[in-house]
Amino acid sequence: MAFRQCPRRLWLEVHQPSLREDSAATEAKFAVGDLVGELARQLYDPEDNGVLVQVMEEGPDAGVARTEALLDKRVPIFEAGFQAAGARAFIDILRPVKKSGQRSWELIEVKSSTSLKGNHRDDVAIQAYVAQQAHLNLSAVKVAHIDTSFIYKGQDHYDGLLREIDLTHEALNRFDEVAQWVNLAQEIVASENMPFILTGAQCRSPHPCGFVKYCRTQEAPVAYSVDLLPRVQGELRRWMQAHQTRELSEVPDEKLTPVQLRVKKCTLSNSCFFDRAGAKSEVLSYSKPHTFLDFEAVQLAVPIWPGTHPYQMFPFQFSLHIRRQDGALDHHEFMDLSGAEPSRAFAEALVRACPTTGSIFVWNASFELARLGALAQQFADLKPSLSDIQDRIVDLLKIVEKCYYHPEQRGSWKLKRVLPTLSSVLNYDHLEGVKDGYMAVLAYVEAIQPETSFERRAQIEQELFTYCRLDSLALVTILNAMVNHSETELLVSSSRP
Ligand code: SF4
Repeated sequence: MAFRQCPRRLWLEVHQPSLREDSAATEAKFAVGDLVGELARQLYDPEDNGVLVQVMEEGPDAGVARTEALLDKRVPIFEAGFQAAGARAFIDILRPVKKSGQRSWELIEVKSSTSLKGNHRDDVAIQAYVAQQAHLNLSAVKVAHIDTSFIYKGQDHYDGLLREIDLTHEALNRFDEVAQWVNLAQEIVASENMPFILTGAQCRSPHPCGFVKYCRTQEAPVAYSVDLLPRVQGELRRWMQAHQTRELSEVPDEKLTPVQLRVKKCTLSNSCFFDRAGAKSEVLSYSKPHTFLDFEAVQLAVPIWPGTHPYQMFPFQFSLHIRRQDGALDHHEFMDLSGAEPSRAFAEALVRACPTTGSIFVWNASFELARLGALAQQFADLKPSLSDIQDRIVDLLKIVEKCYYHPEQRGSWKLKRVLPTLSSVLNYDHLEGVKDGYMAVLAYVEAIQPETSFERRAQIEQELFTYCRLDSLALVTILNAMVNHSETELLVSSSRP
């Protein structure tokens, strides 16, 4: 599968695996995959007589040998290993079936995604090929992914969480194609030399490649990379691929959107764009008091609260600053690490903390608007207040995107990139522990586990409060900068509703 993404990735996975650096987001995805895999083993083995082949502990050769020995037992085998025709595959679930007196096996690959993807099709085709080459009698080849319509009823009843897609016909008819991949992959691995492949779209899809930092160091340096351009897609992406363009200066202006063109011009001239008058007049058009709000929310692939569904979003924390008439700031914050479904407590606290007048600034409003809309649907009694908050939300990102760009943003309008260009005081680098949204979610999930110690929970709580506070304070700072206020005005008194 590494070869299917990029031959160079396969070579590096085999010859230089230590160069791989997975991001926090990738680590979080792995953790979700492990969790869903574990649950799938329970769902596909209700009698609990299946056997898990521990590939990481036993080693691949021992895993293949143990699978072979287990086949006669006719029990479900998890991570079943096969080796044949120059390839090795480990199958998530192998289930014995008997139809009309015929004994065979069902191959099921479990995915934590919510739909079937192209790479899943390749994955099962490879697994089916290797298993059949190893003389396994396969009667079905399936992918099981998360069904988002599933509602958890509680008491560990997860029947229906996974939706099966039967790919038997397709997978069994791709063996010639798979044999070619295996041969090419073997040639790549056998070579002493790493294949020369420039970084490009393949580094992000179907998964972010962990070798991207290394690969970039191997490429001839560019003055300003095209990677600085935001939202490259469609025709522009195709044009850049066709021309193998790496230098930002080589991208014609007429191919760029106004925002991309601004990034290009500011980058090449190393200058900042700031429509001060435009920013100021837009900010001042919003009614006072000005409130600054940031949420943190968690999505669980495997729901743990009855009545909820997979990947439902649950806000569990907010930080809110309100600028008083005298210019000082009031601060309110909320977090629920009790392990109970946090939505109700969150919504009540937010309604209590939000002023009933004025504008509420957030960064990238679609997230907050969607959460508020969902909460209003969920809690009819709070709907008027939540809808009122929703109506007063203002997207500060849109104002900044329209009126400001600094080359150090490096093509991004993430809060973390914009803030340091406007403030020498506030900085995400100084944070301990939780430093981004992915880390916040991982920390939350750890904190609500019953086995997490009191001390560790208290530490997580502190880290999460500090992180979320910084987010809402960053909004204050950025808005100040848009209207030429000074950071020294930030006098904060804190409270929790
Ligand atoms: S970073 Fe890109 S070019 Fe390098 S190995 Fe990964 S996918 Fe291939």
